[in-house]
Amino acid sequence: MIREADLWELETEKRKHVKLPSFLEQGFSALKRDVVDKRICCLCGTCAAFCDKIRISENELKPELVEGYDTICGLCYAFCPRTFLPLSEIESRIFGAEERKRADGDVLGVYQSCYAVKSKKADIKGQDGGAVTSLLAYALEQGIIDCAVITSSDNNWKPVTKVAKNYGELKEGAGTKYTIYPSAMGVKEAMEADCENIGFVGLPCQIQGLRKVQTAEQPYEVGKERIKLLIGLFCMENFKEELLDFVMEKVSLDLDGVRKFDIKGKELLVYDEEGKAYAIALDEIKGYIGEGCSVCMDYTAELADIAVGSVGSEEGWSTVFARTEEGAKIVKGALEKGYIEAKKIEEKGLGVIRRLGESKRRRGSAK
Ligand SMILES: Cc1cc2nc3c(=O)[nH]c(=O)nc-3n(C[C@H](O)[C@H](O)[C@H](O)COP(=O)(O)OP(=O)(O)OC[C@H]3O[C@@H](n4cnc5c(N)ncnc54)[C@H](O)[C@@H]3O)c2cc1C
Ligand code: SF4
Ligand code: SF4
Ligand code: SF4
Repeated sequence: MIREADLWELETEKRKHVKLPSFLEQGFSALKRDVVDKRICCLCGTCAAFCDKIRISENELKPELVEGYDTICGLCYAFCPRTFLPLSEIESRIFGAEERKRADGDVLGVYQSCYAVKSKKADIKGQDGGAVTSLLAYALEQGIIDCAVITSSDNNWKPVTKVAKNYGELKEGAGTKYTIYPSAMGVKEAMEADCENIGFVGLPCQIQGLRKVQTAEQPYEVGKERIKLLIGLFCMENFKEELLDFVMEKVSLDLDGVRKFDIKGKELLVYDEEGKAYAIALDEIKGYIGEGCSVCMDYTAELADIAVGSVGSEEGWSTVFARTEEGAKIVKGALEKGYIEAKKIEEKGLGVIRRLGESKRRRGSAK
């Protein structure tokens, strides 16, 4: 028989732990009702990554149930970043309650270090400083991860996820693809390829989905312990695939003649093979912004181990926030081993990131 004193001790012990989202037995129809039909799905791909019954249709780019019979295990509903997002609980779990409290309310989120970073590898042609590819290269070559799920693209700039297992494959992911793609599904591919220590790079919404996978209290073996590193990208918005046709017509170029897309200030810049830039005002393309972006409030990938963006640093450098201890160790190690160089970010740069983050929060909460 359990003594009353033991029961008290058990109860006290329980209270020391953070209350996390508990497992909910809601099936795909609830996910469809609360997220897809409400047009707030951000197409992160998390639901389809952890259930074979869900497919993201290529034509309409929305999650659908492939099999008629739903066992209603509840995972898709519990993992989706758009059903419920208990941010403070998740943050307390990944950063520790004290750290979380210190950053409460700040759009820059929790971080241990913050630098402007540039790759020291001459063959990494990154979007900005090539920080993401270089940090992943360090983590891979040190055996911290055994693969990295990256988003590469085909000849027509259509995003494609890849499970990169070596330096050469990693480099294929460098550069930003500005059309929506359910990249979190690449985690499924990595698990099927027997990777045990998975690194993932993606947008804030994708990081939210994968953090929910890591922290949700649920009774199934989904392999969450194999997800070891989450690198998040800053993101103000992403665009529907139709954007590319519109832009190509505007600038009279073929997609296979485009070397780089970049958003700077209030313009989308399209660079051709010779490096000539064609500019289109963001106002002209706002009709192509993904529906799910309208309610999004995370600009700086607040739940990532490491968050990377271009804003805040000068041209050719990436802004890097190391948020978790693991993330900080990777940034420090990559510096020491000569993968990257780093310098301080000026207060002015942090101010710009804050302003953009706050405007995104306002936009998202107004919906
Ligand atoms: C849709 C989108 C919107 C963005 N908006 C902003 C912004 O508003 N402000 C800002 O400062 N930065 C933004 N960024 C981040 C910025 O464009 C760079 O990705 C970032 O600065 C890292 O540059 P890098 O040279 O260090 O990365 P690189 O070394 O070039 O590596 C880039 C990594 O990004 C991944 N990636 C590329 N496209 C996608 C995609 N569509 N989905 C998931 N992963 C992808 C690749 O797998 C690759 O590993 C955005 C990125 C994306 C994809
Ligand atoms: S089986 Fe589970 S994860 Fe798959 S659709 Fe049904 S409730 Fe969602
Ligand atoms: S937001 Fe992500 S997890 Fe939720 S329904 Fe859409 S693709 Fe699935
Ligand atoms: S704005 Fe939010 S929902 Fe849209 S792609 Fe970026 S992180 Fe995802």
